[in-house]
Amino acid sequence: MSKNYLIGFPRIGENRELKRALESYWANKTTYNDVLEVASSLKEKHWKEQNAAGICYIPSNDFSLYDNILDTSILLNVIPKRFEALENEELYFALARGTKEAQACEMTKWFNTNYHYIVPELSKDTKFKLNSKKVVDEFKEAKALGIKTKINLTGIITYLGLSKSVDNEDVYLNVNKVLDLYVELLKELDTLDDNLVIQFDEPIFVKDLDSKVLSLIKPIYDTLSKVSKNIKIVVSTYFEHSNEASKILLTTPIWALSLDFIYGLTNLEILEEFKASNKVLIAGVIDGRNVFKSDFNEKVKLLNTIKTYIKEENLLISTSCSLLHVPYTLDLEDKLNSEVKECLAFAREKLNEIRLLSIICFNKRLNQKDQEEIIKNKEISENRKKSSQINNKDIQKELDSLTLLERVGAYEERIKVQKAFFKYNDLATTTIGSFPQTPEVRASRLAYKRKEISKEEYENDMKQYIKDCIAFQEEVGLEILVHGEPERNDMVEYFGEQLDGFAFSQYAWVQSYGSRCVKPPLIYGDVSRPSAMTVSWSTYAQEQTQKIVKGMLTGPVTILNWSFVRDDIPRSEVSKQIALALSYEVDDLQKAGIKMIQVDEAAFKEGYPLRVKNIKEYESWALESFKLAVSKAQKDTQIHTHMCYSQFNDIITTIEEMDADVITIETSRSGNKLLQIFKEVGYKQEVGPGVYDIHSPRVPSVEEIVKQINLLKEVLPVTQLWINPDCGLKTRKWPEVKQSLKNLVQAVEIVRAQKSA
Ligand code: GLN
Ligand code: ZN
Repeated sequence: MSKNYLIGFPRIGENRELKRALESYWANKTTYNDVLEVASSLKEKHWKEQNAAGICYIPSNDFSLYDNILDTSILLNVIPKRFEALENEELYFALARGTKEAQACEMTKWFNTNYHYIVPELSKDTKFKLNSKKVVDEFKEAKALGIKTKINLTGIITYLGLSKSVDNEDVYLNVNKVLDLYVELLKELDTLDDNLVIQFDEPIFVKDLDSKVLSLIKPIYDTLSKVSKNIKIVVSTYFEHSNEASKILLTTPIWALSLDFIYGLTNLEILEEFKASNKVLIAGVIDGRNVFKSDFNEKVKLLNTIKTYIKEENLLISTSCSLLHVPYTLDLEDKLNSEVKECLAFAREKLNEIRLLSIICFNKRLNQKDQEEIIKNKEISENRKKSSQINNKDIQKELDSLTLLERVGAYEERIKVQKAFFKYNDLATTTIGSFPQTPEVRASRLAYKRKEISKEEYENDMKQYIKDCIAFQEEVGLEILVHGEPERNDMVEYFGEQLDGFAFSQYAWVQSYGSRCVKPPLIYGDVSRPSAMTVSWSTYAQEQTQKIVKGMLTGPVTILNWSFVRDDIPRSEVSKQIALALSYEVDDLQKAGIKMIQVDEAAFKEGYPLRVKNIKEYESWALESFKLAVSKAQKDTQIHTHMCYSQFNDIITTIEEMDADVITIETSRSGNKLLQIFKEVGYKQEVGPGVYDIHSPRVPSVEEIVKQINLLKEVLPVTQLWINPDCGLKTRKWPEVKQSLKNLVQAVEIVRAQKSA
């Protein structure tokens, strides 16, 4: 038997079957039983595939109808009071999606991935109780197919650490209650079969934990390990190194520890101690969250280093984390350029990598086919270094010769020139860029993509939209206009499609939350810009009006953070390549007379590292990238940026250093509280704190916006404030947008009148 191990597998299905099943059930077109049937067939297919691929430890309970943390809340009966009347599937989906009466639980990002989990809500009233059904049933389901699974559970410290307490209590006060239930669960599982392996996912161990939290590890894992001799406990950590926790875990009777050697290479530092403990190491040597093929040569080197500490019988080969974060299979991708395609490996292909690598690592005999695959792997890895499709010498040279470019003129000087040039008012009104994406616009884009309509027809449709959009903004009385972004399906995809070095898959969906999936672009090669990407739309919009039209770009860091990024050069390098490409776009826009340009950095904060120690480095290249992107802007070109966040306290210095002339942000839900930090640090540049929340169809009243503006005025002077919604309007409907923006403009007029009164 080859010695390998799988942390977890995607569940949405090769053709997003789970998504479709859920959505048609939610739309009352099918029954819950139909969902369960689809779920069963997916589980069966996935288990069988893993089995056929030669995976030794195959997971169960990694499947979920919505989210594993939500499943754990059900397992432990952590149900907020407002859902008390509900049960079973109604309860389950209500927690995730809300009901008319009860607001859904909060959802947030799973560490630094684009997966989102449902935040458990703890309170004094939480009635912990074990509901083991799902865990038990899934094990039995696999067993009936002849597959004995390893059982995945959320670790106690991670579960509690990701929870929130509605009465502001320390979430870890609940440790013993949860531990009791887990002991009860293990006892129940113990009756199911001999020799069980149970994996506790503890990704929180890769964060900088305080000593109080660290002190919980030993008692918990001592207790869990002692429940039954028949049960082997695995603790799984990923996304970074977990050395502080690992040290402690090595002193407990757990059987194995799984560590990430891709994003947490520092884990190597624990191996000396690991060796002494004689525990099993599950070595995450294959990237579980990126889509590029492993270079077996590199992997063998890494494994050889590991093997100098860990003896073979104590070593299992695995991925760095669950494969949840990668798409299902490359098989369906028949439109990808073959040179790009051969560099990729999705979940199913990674199963094969695990198998092959474990054969190589343990010197098992390779059959002919495997040998051929290994030779091919070497060729591909070598070709990747040389290929002219991947490597663009000119771009590399240009970047090497760049010294960090600062914009011309200091902010104080620039803003004077800009105010004289644009002549906008205090409390200038604007929007974040996109306007409602109507069914007609979507249909036209799709038809063009499918070559059902000509380029000309398509462009006419877009122009019509832009024209109407400009007319609408003039009619409402907005001051700084935008073209409305009808040509963009997605703010990253739009740019990726026009840049060299990007590829787009047809089916490479990954789960973002619940039934929602995203299909990130693949950055496989050096990035460059063959031609202008936005200039014609922006200039067309500008031709329709005497008012100022703001150009609209997506920033380098956001493009990077929302893509799968090649792993053969540092991310910082890729980021700068994108920035360089964008700098030419900025220049082309200003030359074409578009002198107010917004560079969106919606995902700037998402890329922050999990360890405090690494933040400085990230901030430094992320900042450099943004600055490079806008470096060609003249003094009288005004650079805006937009960020979809409200928490700036910990990153305010970096925001300041970005040196955008205007930043629009998402603070509408917090009054003026979150704006205070801008005042505290003496932030000089202009700020447009969103005055209403665009994430709901609710139309804000004039009075409400007036109140909000007055709150903002308490913090910053009107000369520094812009008034705008808190994000783009593309998900909203026209009638809501019309009324909301009318109210916004009217509110500004009222506030201005107050001032002169
Ligand atoms: N300009 C983009 C829009 O308005 C910004 C969206 C975002 O930041 N998420 O849609
Ligand atoms: Zn936004």
